[in-house]
Amino acid sequence: MPTASPAPVDRASLLARLRGCERCDLVVIGGGATGLGVALDAAARGFSVVCLESDDFAKGTSSRATKLVHGGVRYLAQGDLGLVREALHERATLLANAPHIAQRLPFVMPAYHWWERSFYGVGLKVYDALAGARGLGATEWLSPARTRELLPTVRPQGLAGGIKYWDGQFDDARLAVLLARTAIAHGALVVNHCPVTGLIREAGMTCGVVARDAESGAKFTVRARCVVNATGVWVDAIRNLDRERGTPEKPPIVAPSQGVHLVVDRDFMPGTHAMLVPKTADGRVLFAVPWMGKTVLGTTDTPRDDLEREPTPFRDEVEFILREAGRYLTKVPARGDVRSVWVGLRPLVKPSDDDGDDTKALSREHTVLVGRSGLVTVTGGKWTTYRAMAEDVLDRCMDRRLLERRVAGVTVHLPLVGAAPGRPLGVAPGEHLYGSEAPVLGALPGAERWLWRDGAGGLSEAMVRFALRFELARTVEDVLARRSRLLFLDARAAAGVADAVSAIVTDELGVRAETAAFKRLAERYLTLP
Ligand SMILES: Cc1cc2nc3c(=O)[nH]c(=O)nc-3n(C[C@H](O)[C@H](O)[C@H](O)COP(=O)(O)OP(=O)(O)OC[C@H]3O[C@@H](n4cnc5c(N)ncnc54)[C@H](O)[C@@H]3O)c2cc1C
Repeated sequence: MPTASPAPVDRASLLARLRGCERCDLVVIGGGATGLGVALDAAARGFSVVCLESDDFAKGTSSRATKLVHGGVRYLAQGDLGLVREALHERATLLANAPHIAQRLPFVMPAYHWWERSFYGVGLKVYDALAGARGLGATEWLSPARTRELLPTVRPQGLAGGIKYWDGQFDDARLAVLLARTAIAHGALVVNHCPVTGLIREAGMTCGVVARDAESGAKFTVRARCVVNATGVWVDAIRNLDRERGTPEKPPIVAPSQGVHLVVDRDFMPGTHAMLVPKTADGRVLFAVPWMGKTVLGTTDTPRDDLEREPTPFRDEVEFILREAGRYLTKVPARGDVRSVWVGLRPLVKPSDDDGDDTKALSREHTVLVGRSGLVTVTGGKWTTYRAMAEDVLDRCMDRRLLERRVAGVTVHLPLVGAAPGRPLGVAPGEHLYGSEAPVLGALPGAERWLWRDGAGGLSEAMVRFALRFELARTVEDVLARRSRLLFLDARAAAGVADAVSAIVTDELGVRAETAAFKRLAERYLTLP
């Protein structure tokens, strides 16, 4: 297998290309799962693409998922078999195209009533059947003893057994960076820290964007045949830039709802299996998932009426997660055990016909709207189905003749940067995430200098250099929150290495890197209401 040698990313030349790019086929606003998925698909079909992210890739919801690549067991309960079948197909596609970032993960559902074992077990057999040849492993009924073997800290009193099934797990923020890098490799111009501040409109049609480089303040205008608004819960702000002068504000289509995750040490749930509680005391689902040497507990679903970039949890959400985890685990997590708390916003879409007569909610959980001006807005859905969502978005662009029709399906077998199926995984902690690029990492200065190390995880000086040279990281936060996931795993440890990371940022990029703001952010990830 040849060693991939990535080209270092030079922001100055990216911005020079942006300045020189007067017109392209497609501008995508937003560098989360959805926007990057659209950018990659369009670039792979040979369109000229610009994708602009206001902050860092996956700074929004796309770094705050539960990290599951899943078919959606809960849609099964709702009888939406088509949706489940499609998500299972996408699950297999993602695992095949990014094996260094997404792997299969076994789950155990503990059962405390005899009927739960049969009821959920039959449902999960249907899940297997829908996955067909693309299944990840067969569902099994477990005895109480076997359930305790797989979940050593599960509450034994009244345990009637369990069900084991398979789904996938991934590193969401690193996947976003890989999508950006793969899109760039296919010719797209993808720039982070570059907010879109305005839309260009001519004769009532949207035909480009105005953007600003957040570092220098420089302004850019890019004209395009098609503009896609993929800004997650923030889509309404862009929709409102797309108004005729003097017309009233458009009513929002997004009602945000937040989900909280708490991270605790692995000894609360040692072993390699995740736990799913299908129905908590108040009817919600609770996951306890091993991830990068820690255990992630979550999540919640709480409506909010603001759109914070760094939303904070409510006290009752934290109490709910700790209380419910404590009902199922013998080692009960308490507030003082939480290493990091992170919150993501879901865009729940309210029906609206204010965008013109071509409003259509697709038969999935995402929505694509094409406004009278031709602005295409996409929101909702899930990480697992980002690729299928991108196809839907491009389909709509083609239906509306904003782009000429080019055949779909080009990303089904498109490996992401670093994917090298069958390659043995690296031995150093975290090295496997680099896939075929691991030798490049190993050759950088500081490959043996660990800034932080903890069981399955680690952050070396070389990883920081790799992030800055090849992965478009620009700040201490970009490195510690989304290239490494230390902020999400252990916020105190992240604050502890911020100065060392800052020195490497200065060395690599030649700029003074602030740490005060990052340390304040880390404090927020440590603070429970
Ligand atoms: C709590 C929670 C758990 C989840 N767990 C899972 C899971 O386990 N598995 C799964 O498959 N899915 C999961 N999801 C769903 C998944 O995370 C989302 O569907 C996905 O991340 C949405 O991506 P997005 O790109 O649409 O939005 P975002 O990731 O929010 O991206 C939008 C981007 O637009 C940028 N932006 C905003 N304004 C501008 C502007 N003016 N100019 C340029 N850029 C701008 C933002 O900075 C942001 O990066 C979960 C969601 C939540 C909330």
